[in-house]
Amino acid sequence: MKSRIEPQGLHYYDRKSGTHILLDEIKTRSSAYSLAPRTVSIAITDECDLTCSYCYVNLKDSFLSKEDIILYCKQLDRFGTFDIAFGGGEPTLHPDLIEICNTIWKETNLGISITTHGHHLNEDYILKLKDNLSFIRVSIDGIEPIYSQLRKRPLDNLLPKLKLLSGQIPFGINAVINKLTVNHLDDLKSLFLEYGGFELLLLPMWHKGKFVLTDNEWSTLNQWIENNHKEIPIRISSESKKYLKLPFLFDNDEWDNDYGFIGIDKTLRKNSFTKEGISIGQYDTFELLLTDWRNTVSVLN
Ligand code: SF4
Repeated sequence: MKSRIEPQGLHYYDRKSGTHILLDEIKTRSSAYSLAPRTVSIAITDECDLTCSYCYVNLKDSFLSKEDIILYCKQLDRFGTFDIAFGGGEPTLHPDLIEICNTIWKETNLGISITTHGHHLNEDYILKLKDNLSFIRVSIDGIEPIYSQLRKRPLDNLLPKLKLLSGQIPFGINAVINKLTVNHLDDLKSLFLEYGGFELLLLPMWHKGKFVLTDNEWSTLNQWIENNHKEIPIRISSESKKYLKLPFLFDNDEWDNDYGFIGIDKTLRKNSFTKEGISIGQYDTFELLLTDWRNTVSVLN
């Protein structure tokens, strides 16, 4: 198990089972807190072959190099990150994704997850990834006709791939919540249960610097989560916190170094929506970068 020191106590993590154990009776000193964010998402490409109606990624065809990704991951591992989440764009279009996962799994103690639209998964790909990955997140916002309307591909193309994942790699479903999807979460829950998902991650839609949900839609979402969170594991983006009355879903916010995002522009930011970040290239070492990060993270929030 990997450990890190946080204000809440000594935190342990097992990357294969996803188990977290927090020893909160242990008093920790601020000078000993782990420098790196607990989880870091890395946008490894801004290429994608879908054209989702709400996509906020500025789609081009750039890739972070294998060498940079591996270097970032090794350094983040050294300074206390528990897990890396590869996203994009569409990460399965990165030509070195399998090799990157295999190297990081062998040479670090990091957990690894991938967020994907899922259309490129096949038996061979899953076989090559399965021993070197903690989790896959597949983006499905709703069943038909919503799925096709938003993702411009039929859901029927994707469902056999979810079946292939079953029993091979634990997977979750990520769903963008907007006015089309918020009233159809029961259908999504049925699909989630039918295919044996491990976690439903709800992502209220963000556009031009703000959430798009109306007060009524937030309250529909709030109610749905309240009614269902005991039956299925639900998570929601932490930025949604102030719009929801669901304290059981969010961590204690005393500590702000739980999440970081590395963009294709090689900046470390608080999340993918934030423009401000610190450029990785301007630092000689990750220790200096992460020290600055820890000092500025609340300002960038
Ligand atoms: S799958 Fe993701 S990256 Fe690709 S178009 Fe859709 S939202 Fe954008």
